[in-house]
Amino acid sequence: VEPAPRRRRVLLKLSGEVFGGGHVGVDPATVRGIAEQIAAVRGEVEVSVVVGGGNFFRGAELSRAGMDRARADYIGMLGTVMNALALQDFLEQSGQPTRVQSAITMGQVSESYIPLRAVRHMEKDRVVIFGAGAGMPYFSTDTVCAQRALETGADMVLMAKSGVDGVYTADPKTDPTAEKLDHLTYTEALRKDIRVMDQTAMTMCNDNSLSMRVFGMEGDGNITRALLGEEIGTLVTP
Ligand code: UDP
Repeated sequence: VEPAPRRRRVLLKLSGEVFGGGHVGVDPATVRGIAEQIAAVRGEVEVSVVVGGGNFFRGAELSRAGMDRARADYIGMLGTVMNALALQDFLEQSGQPTRVQSAITMGQVSESYIPLRAVRHMEKDRVVIFGAGAGMPYFSTDTVCAQRALETGADMVLMAKSGVDGVYTADPKTDPTAEKLDHLTYTEALRKDIRVMDQTAMTMCNDNSLSMRVFGMEGDGNITRALLGEEIGTLVTP
């Protein structure tokens, strides 16, 4: 008996702003729409999700306002768990089984981060949602994407962006000469200071040969299309 071919396994990054629909808190209609698009690939693609928390708190901002940086970052991480639970709820409502794994122990609402278990969940068609970032201050959820994708053997990171449909040569909102790129390398992005994700995360992807697709989540079914491997947005490679 030949072993079944391994399915495509991807890690989807949803930043906090995606959850809030531009506001503080969670916008249920937006999260429901995202959940339905993820549930649509059930059985075809193995999916894990890293959620950001910028719709609630950003540690660096609280720290500039006078808070201790580490404590502010923990508040930021707790915000990501709220997004994780919201996404879990709408995924389950869409018929998609899920598990939340938090990097900060929170037994009532999530499992702990256990990489082999996360892989097993995906093999059983569960979507794994990683909350609480890395559980460590001074990190970002972008860096967590790279780390979790590498440790759980994802083929690619998919960065869903709000308000932009890929990587441009300059900021398309302020510079009319900005052109969309189909492809670029991490080295180019780092050299030209293109902030696709933070520099630590890009360096980690580059050093460990992990590619990433940056795409806009607004287009019709774009999240489903990206999960299925359609070449939308911009591909960033080592
Ligand atoms: N954070 C952290 N360590 C991590 C991940 C996140 O300290 O491993 C904190 C940090 O304060 C950050 C906040 O959680 O500002 C929310 O995460 P992030 O800003 O990455 O969310 P996004 O920008 O994707 O919404």
